[in-house]
Amino acid sequence: MALNKFMHPRNLYKNKKPNFQELALKYPDFRKYVFPDVTGKLFLDFKHPDSLRQLSKTLLEDDFDLKMELPLDRLVPTVPLRLNYIHWLEDVLAASKAGKCIKGIDIGTGSSCIYPILSCKLHDDWTFLATEVDDKNFMFTQKNIETNGMTERIKVKKVNAVDDTILCDAIKDESDTFDFCMCNPPFFADHVEAQAVAKSRSYSRADPKSVCTASFTEKIVEGGEVNFLKRMIKDSMELGDKIRIYSSMIGKKSSLPPLKEELRKLKKSLFQESKKERPPLVYQVPRAPTDLDYDVAHISARIKALLTDLKIQHDVTLNQKSLVKMTLVAKENTWSNQRRKRRQKAKEEAQPSKNSFAPTEGTKDGHDDGSDGSEHLKGNSPCEEHISSSKEQKAVPEENENNNHPNIGLDICKKIFNPSKSALL
Ligand code: SAH
Repeated sequence: MALNKFMHPRNLYKNKKPNFQELALKYPDFRKYVFPDVTGKLFLDFKHPDSLRQLSKTLLEDDFDLKMELPLDRLVPTVPLRLNYIHWLEDVLAASKAGKCIKGIDIGTGSSCIYPILSCKLHDDWTFLATEVDDKNFMFTQKNIETNGMTERIKVKKVNAVDDTILCDAIKDESDTFDFCMCNPPFFADHVEAQAVAKSRSYSRADPKSVCTASFTEKIVEGGEVNFLKRMIKDSMELGDKIRIYSSMIGKKSSLPPLKEELRKLKKSLFQESKKERPPLVYQVPRAPTDLDYDVAHISARIKALLTDLKIQHDVTLNQKSLVKMTLVAKENTWSNQRRKRRQKAKEEAQPSKNSFAPTEGTKDGHDDGSDGSEHLKGNSPCEEHISSSKEQKAVPEENENNNHPNIGLDICKKIFNPSKSALL
């Protein structure tokens, strides 16, 4: 992770760039991976898995007094990014008034067991249950826990990749309740997706600064991270308060909408509450100037017809003598280019009669300004119908039956052309 403003304020690396010079002098193993530029400043090749691994190991040793063994063919944890998640969790725990002796779960702990080990180093009273599916990762994790003297505080469980659950099976024998669970999930659904993401970087964007060393099981899971996290959400429905705070990282921004949707569906979403209701469109029917059918019932019937015409889904949520309320959902924009659509329709409808009475005009194309023979059809379109003058309306007697007050229609027309709003009449 770049050292940038998005780092957590307590992140040790927010304002402290690792000093390669100092680290190289202190750690001979690290020295092997740095090289000087022409000015003598030391550099590290972030695209080389070995250099990356050595940097993480050196930072963990220098800043946290931790010793880690990391295989070359597995994901190398970048320390500043992992630290960020831990600090964020500390904040969430503090906000939720969690007490002392925090118990966490790390789902997919990797070869490093970085989250539990680093968290336990930072907090004397934290303990962890870690899970892992990969044999090699499981072995290295156990070793790292032992090397850092944390066997009493971190328990690691080997779980099955084909299990339907992410959490339920792993904690079914645990009598404890947990304060939180955390997860850095496998990102991709398959190699194609992994490659597509790599290739979808725009040319204007710089190449990734560091190489990704993750193995197949570490970065690829059926259905990608969305499916992985959906399984976790499903587990949370079953486990409820057994875990107080459910959390996860997300690798791709595009994963957020389907996950938010899933939470909404299960009525577990806070996003839903923050979603602002738009104010309703309200049309108040003025007092009738005549004794025509000029009342709420007739106008709402007309509006329903217009909405049907426009393929706008409308559900009547309240139907009283003096008040009709509808919720509108527009799945697509059916109201744009009305003038063009009208002309097209008028043209189509005018065509047979034109052909029979004036065959030469039938071949004319592209010059129709809507005036030719279309006057009697104007009323077919909702907007035009109401915008047209009363003179034009006289030419549409059948339409006048339904609409006796052009101004009302015009007003409504303007209002309903705003999708996804509820309409109050
Ligand atoms: N937490 C580590 C590793 C993240 S990579 C880090 O942040 O560096 C994702 C890890 O999840 C891999 O180690 C992978 O083997 C593991 N994994 C994949 N499916 C899993 C599952 N169903 N349960 C537990 N771990 C899983």
